[in-house]
Amino acid sequence: QEDDFKKVISHAKEYGYVFQSSEIYDGLSAVYDYAQNGAELKKNIREYWWKAMVNLNENIVGIDAAIFMHPTTWKASGHVDAFNDPLIDNKDSKKRYRADVLIEDYVAKIEAKIEKEVAKASKRFGDTFDKKQFLATNQRVVEYQEKADAILKRMGKSLENEDLADVKSLIEELDIACPMSGSKNWTDVKQFNLMFGTKLGASAESAMDLYLRPETAQGIFVNFLNVQKTGRMKIPFGIAQTGKAFRNEIVARQFIFRMREFEQMEMQFFIRPGTQKEWYEKWKENRLKWHLSLGMGEENYRFHDHEKLAHYADAAADIEFRFPFGFKELEGIHSRTDFDLSQHEKFSGKKLQYFDPELKESYVPYVVETSIGLDRMFLAVFSNSLQEEELENNTTRTVLKLPAVLAPTKAAVLPLVKKDGLPDVAHKIIEDLKWDFNVIYDEKDAVGRRYRRQDAAGTPFCITVDHQSLEDQTVTIRHRDTMEQHRVAISEVKSIIHKEVDM
Ligand code: ATP
Repeated sequence: QEDDFKKVISHAKEYGYVFQSSEIYDGLSAVYDYAQNGAELKKNIREYWWKAMVNLNENIVGIDAAIFMHPTTWKASGHVDAFNDPLIDNKDSKKRYRADVLIEDYVAKIEAKIEKEVAKASKRFGDTFDKKQFLATNQRVVEYQEKADAILKRMGKSLENEDLADVKSLIEELDIACPMSGSKNWTDVKQFNLMFGTKLGASAESAMDLYLRPETAQGIFVNFLNVQKTGRMKIPFGIAQTGKAFRNEIVARQFIFRMREFEQMEMQFFIRPGTQKEWYEKWKENRLKWHLSLGMGEENYRFHDHEKLAHYADAAADIEFRFPFGFKELEGIHSRTDFDLSQHEKFSGKKLQYFDPELKESYVPYVVETSIGLDRMFLAVFSNSLQEEELENNTTRTVLKLPAVLAPTKAAVLPLVKKDGLPDVAHKIIEDLKWDFNVIYDEKDAVGRRYRRQDAAGTPFCITVDHQSLEDQTVTIRHRDTMEQHRVAISEVKSIIHKEVDM
């Protein structure tokens, strides 16, 4: 697993997807830059989300709020007082941990044991293996599962009650049962605020303390009434946006999974009080469908319903994805009640209510939100797509099977040789395609090597121009995933690609 993940990181660098930020100065911890292919992939994921959320829903509109917000925003939202993570230090190893993530890592170890048992049994029983039944009846697996559940439950309760001493004892107990740090010498658990502070204004006296936003959601809440009025929106309706958020994460690791500067794609859906259960279920289902539409394997997703609820929520679930380091949160769906709007009413003194023409009354709407990290989605797509295949001639090929709709480059146009007018034909094809898709030209090396290069870069199509092309205006089109090649008329190429890559 660890090796797989290392391969993901080095492939992302080698093929121009993700670089360590300020690499020539040895980088900055948990900050990354998207390179020439990464920026395209990220943009395509963002567009795929925007299309599904904003363009395909008549009652959802998109905005782009500023990163800087009036500082009272963060008092009202609760972030100044409560946007903390519990941190714990190990005095011997001098390592710092986020206590809840550390506990989740212990649980992941137990879950890995369960998966191992499942794999063993599935091998033993073959076609007759019934996973559900096995999970429910196998003594050892049931015990593991109970243990994992009990740990998470206890952690949830302790954090909710601010019982940090119990969080510490839980870590100590787990460390004895299943040593991970190799040491038992822990500090107390402390709360650590994750917001980055900065200053606005030129002179020291007039400067105003600001925060870099730790989530995009508040930019939507403070604009709720402006959008509702100017857009003549009727409840239920949604406001969506994508944009940067900043968190001073205690432990930054796992590549772009947990960054200090990252991008969120959020949608806040405003509803009548009392209908939150129904909308919460609807959005859970909707969002899972969106993920499944990319064809990355149903078995790689699962819901995790929260035991521990944030101060604003009455229900919350994560969509978890199977990353190279196990199932982890990819997206959150939260029923936030009227917490945020009510708080902003209180702190701003402005009414943030909606007059419901059917009920003939005004109320503060309830909110169900969907919140996904764009970088985390990038990692999900990228790591899931990277595969090594054994070919018939005993060689392996590295192929990045990105969903075609998301691939940064849709096609590479390759003249078989660099002469006889083949490059001219290739350039002409590019001229025609480039208005519709991101396409590239490649004439270096033997064509087989060029195919492999495009496979590894994630390009779904290669279009090869050869001598026959000069005679009959045809080319071969090669499909990345199947490696099949077909001879087609040049005039057909565009529609063939459209069919595969259009959203
Ligand atoms: P975690 O428990 O992993 O810290 P969270 O529950 O605090 O995440 P939310 O506040 O619900 O996360 O944020 C919504 C989404 O934003 C997450 O599902 C995740 O995809 C993304 N996200 C949050 N923090 C980060 C980060 N530091 N780096 C990258 N993406 C992030």
